[in-house]
Amino acid sequence: MTLGTFRYERPSSLDEAIRQAVEAPGARWLAGGMSLLPLMKMELAAPPALVDLAGVEDLVGVRERDDVLWVGAMTRHAELALHPLVARHASLLAAAASQVGDPQVRNRGTIGGSLAHADPAADLPAAVLALDATIQVASPRGRRGIPAGGFFLGPLMTALEPDEVIVAVTVPQRGARRQAYRKRPHPASGYAVVGIAASLRWEGDRVASAAVAVTGVADHAFRAQRTEALLTGEVLTDALLVEASGVVTDGQEVWGDLYASAEYRRHLAGVTTRQVLEHLRADG
Ligand SMILES: Cc1cc2nc3c(=O)[nH]c(=O)nc-3n(C[C@H](O)[C@H](O)[C@H](O)COP(=O)(O)OP(=O)(O)OC[C@H]3O[C@@H](n4cnc5c(N)ncnc54)[C@H](O)[C@@H]3O)c2cc1C
Repeated sequence: MTLGTFRYERPSSLDEAIRQAVEAPGARWLAGGMSLLPLMKMELAAPPALVDLAGVEDLVGVRERDDVLWVGAMTRHAELALHPLVARHASLLAAAASQVGDPQVRNRGTIGGSLAHADPAADLPAAVLALDATIQVASPRGRRGIPAGGFFLGPLMTALEPDEVIVAVTVPQRGARRQAYRKRPHPASGYAVVGIAASLRWEGDRVASAAVAVTGVADHAFRAQRTEALLTGEVLTDALLVEASGVVTDGQEVWGDLYASAEYRRHLAGVTTRQVLEHLRADG
C-alpha cells in the first residue's frame, strides 16, 4: 500500500486554501489524514492534489461568540474532549470525542474531517445532531451554514459541495440541558456498533424538549423523532423510558454485518437509549 503522486499545498489562510483548491480541480482537503490517507493507500481515492488545512489559522480554536459555541474545523478530537468551553456548553460533544478510536487517532483526527467524511458509524455526527449544531462552510461563492439535521445524507455522503470547506461547527447556547453520549464500540476499530447522543431540557420533573441522535445502525446518523416526540412534555417514568427507547430505530433501515446483525443492532440501540435516558433522569 503506497500513496500515488499528487500535488501538495499548504496554505496559511482560508482565502488561499479556497483559491488553491479552485486551481487544482479534484483536489481534496487534508485535515488529520486519519480517514483520507487510508483511502488513498487502498487506492479508493486518488486526488490529484491535497490542500492541507493544518496551517490555516481561520479554522483553529474554540470560543464563545454571541450566543453560540464556535468550534474550529481543525479542532482535534483530543482537544474537544478536554476543552473547558466544550465541557460547559456541549458536554456530549466532549464525551463523544473522548471515545473516538484510540489516542493516536484522537490526536490527529479533527471535527471537520470527521463530519465531512460522514462515516455511518462515527461518533461526532450523532453529537452534532443532538446539539442542533450548524456546520459553517466556505467556498468561492461565499459562506453558508448547514444545519446538522440536513448535513448527513448517506454513507460517506453529505450536503457539502465539492469545493466547500468546513470552517467551524457552531452550537447554540440554550441554557441548562442534561446531555450524554454512550456507545457500544466495535472491539477492533472503536467505531460505534451503536452510539446514542441525547440532550434533554427539563422543566421541573418534565422533559420540556428532547434531542436524541443515533449512529452506527443505519447508513447515516439520524435523529430519533418518535423517541423525541414520546419524551417531550412528559415525566420520565419507567414505563415511558421503556416505550421511548423501544422505538429509537423506528422508520430506519437498520443494517447488519458480520459483527452485528440488524436485529442485534436494533436491540442494542434500544438498550443503550434506555441507559442514556436513565442516566439523564438520575443526573438532576
Ligand atoms: C484506527 C482508526 C480508528 C477510528 N475510530 C473511530 C471511532 O471510533 N469513531 C469515529 O468517529 N471515528 C473514528 N476514526 C476516524 C477518525 O475520527 C478521523 O479522524 C475522521 O474520520 C477524519 O478526520 P480527519 O481530520 O483525519 O480527516 P481526513 O482524513 O484528513 O479527511 C477526511 C475527509 O474529510 C475531508 N475534509 C477534512 N477536513 C475538511 C474540512 N474542514 N472541510 C471539508 N472537508 C474536509 C477530506 O477531504 C476527506 O474527504 C478512526 C480512524 C482510524 C484510522
